[in-house]
Amino acid sequence: MSESVINVSDLTRRFGATTALDSVSLSMPRGAVYGLVGANGAGKTTLIKHVLGLLRAESGSVRVFGHDPVADPVAVLSRIGYLSEENDLPGWMRVDELIRYSRAFYHAWDDAYAEELRQTFALDPTAKIKNLSKGQKARTGLLIALAFRPELLVLDEPSSGLDPIVRRDILGAVIRTIADEGRTVLFSSHLLEEVEQVADHVTMISHGKIVLSAPLDEIKESHRVNGRVLSLDEIFVAHVGTAEAPAPDA
Ligand code: ATP
Repeated sequence: MSESVINVSDLTRRFGATTALDSVSLSMPRGAVYGLVGANGAGKTTLIKHVLGLLRAESGSVRVFGHDPVADPVAVLSRIGYLSEENDLPGWMRVDELIRYSRAFYHAWDDAYAEELRQTFALDPTAKIKNLSKGQKARTGLLIALAFRPELLVLDEPSSGLDPIVRRDILGAVIRTIADEGRTVLFSSHLLEEVEQVADHVTMISHGKIVLSAPLDEIKESHRVNGRVLSLDEIFVAHVGTAEAPAPDA
């Protein structure tokens, strides 16, 4: 558990007059589930894009598996499964074509596991991606992100478009299994209840600053009112304010 998978140090990112990340420092040891929570525009996607090397650190540093993801993308990206918020899949492909196409990128691709996931996610292999529902697209993206058994799974708002049952039964189970196997999950979400159910460690971000980052158990233990442990929702409001609280549902 001691070796860090992600190390972010003093990372600041500006877009014109907007400070999207303000001196962010984070260290994520292997084998845990990290929930990154914050309101719209808090900086979650910007942080994730730095981890993936889609944005270059202008100030501060980012290391993933000990490597700079911009300077050494092969060493980093071959070990990360990623599901983006936009979930940009090629609409003209069929599900089975996308699976065949994606497996070419990863030598560790596991055909049997991909097929198991396809069945669990109830995906028709002959369906065209452009004709899938939002939830089916999200499941397809998740299959592609999982089938090579990445050491680090990064999910940006994985629940948008997924119905509550899929969220709980599929996403929750997938995330827990990965951590139980000693791999690491980083997922961003504005659904605090969901984060509370699956995360081991919670990082709250507001206006580009980390306002709280600790193991969930510790956070809960240190937030009691008259003996009652507060919900993550209440803790978020206490640190960030009601106006900033994420919407209760997708
Ligand atoms: P959401 O939950 O809405 O996806 P987020 O927490 O992921 O929000 P970011 O997408 O990281 O937030 O955005 C952080 C801030 O940076 C916002 O104010 C956003 O408008 C701004 N921002 C992000 N990317 C760009 C860009 N390419 N150009 C200009 N501003 C940007």
